[in-house]
Amino acid sequence: MGKLIYMDNAATTFVDKRVLDAMIPYLSDKCFNPSSIYDGAQDVHEALDNARETIAKSLNASPREIYFTSCGTESDNWAIKGVAHANADKGKHLITSKIEHHAVLHTMKALEREGFEVTYLDVDSNGFVSLSELEKAIRPDTILVSIMYANNEIGTIEPIKEIGEICRKKGVYFHVDAVQAYAHVPIDVVAENIDMLSVSGHKFNAMKGTGFLYIKKGVKINTFMDGGAQERNKRAGTENVAGIVGMAKASEIAFAEMDKRIKHEIEIRDYMIDRILKEIPYSKLNGDRNKRLPNNLNIGFEFIEGESMLLALNDLGVYASSGSACTSGSLDPSHVLLAIGLPHEKAHGSLRLSISHETTMDDAKFVCDNLPKIVERLRSMSPLYEDFVKNK
Ligand SMILES: *Cc1c(COP(=O)(O)O)cnc(C)c1O
Repeated sequence: MGKLIYMDNAATTFVDKRVLDAMIPYLSDKCFNPSSIYDGAQDVHEALDNARETIAKSLNASPREIYFTSCGTESDNWAIKGVAHANADKGKHLITSKIEHHAVLHTMKALEREGFEVTYLDVDSNGFVSLSELEKAIRPDTILVSIMYANNEIGTIEPIKEIGEICRKKGVYFHVDAVQAYAHVPIDVVAENIDMLSVSGHKFNAMKGTGFLYIKKGVKINTFMDGGAQERNKRAGTENVAGIVGMAKASEIAFAEMDKRIKHEIEIRDYMIDRILKEIPYSKLNGDRNKRLPNNLNIGFEFIEGESMLLALNDLGVYASSGSACTSGSLDPSHVLLAIGLPHEKAHGSLRLSISHETTMDDAKFVCDNLPKIVERLRSMSPLYEDFVKNK
């Protein structure tokens, strides 16, 4: 077997060697608690300040609006529960979409159990939220709208700026889960009218267990963790200094190389989409062709199970996903694919390939050369396909 071809970067990414190098001092000779008073600790505190500044700048935010957390899930929980609890006197209605990550959807469910009311917006067949539906859903007691920047399964990029405009006009807070988008496409929290934005480090070559939440100055939000005075009294707990320094390094690298990465990823993505759709009958792209993440392709193949495709690819050293990592292991089809209108059997036969700046054209060719054979073999064993061919 040849080298490993990793096409599951939406699940997690490799830590960049430069990120690891930036982290190591803070795990060894600079291990001090940034809250301590001695010189060494002051250096560590300064490293945190620098990291905060780097990250703030990447979004057009101010450093005081960046709060470090332990992951994207924590950021989503904090933003949504924190605003709900702090503004419950104004209203108890929240709006989100049916294709959010479970970190958002299950947080909303938890609030429903507390007596909040949640509207789950439908999306169209490409996964877009409708602006007019959103505007209609906003009520006098609506306190928060939470819509993801880009979908983790089908890659669709939502009309964030326009959604933000509506929220601003209606005086409703706007939270964005940007875990798949940050450091992959440019984001400007001011120009895009965003009040809160969740990010996770391990989706852009930093380590797992890192993340941050952007909270625009003036947003009324509760603290998430009570304890010490870290993160300006809003998120207690000794900072994950090495992780944060690494995340800032990963951000710095990603933004410096962003144009080049986007161009490279789009070239490979489009090459793969074109070849797969052309060479494999009864295949269809899920998500919008153009307004999609540069590194995402999600293709539905009729008459087969995504899982059997994953196993066949695994045997060739190709790592991919059939939905979100969180849902694999369960037999329920992806809620995202159902929301864009796929029937159960088609939702089951989908393959998500999430590439990276390190994916090569040779990797892409290898996958495209082998996929038709895999699909053909699996279909030859499928009774559904046999019936379909017979009836044709
Ligand atoms: C991965 C992901 C999350 C969760 O981030 P973690 O850091 O793994 O907790 C949330 N939202 C989206 C869209 C994601 O892709």
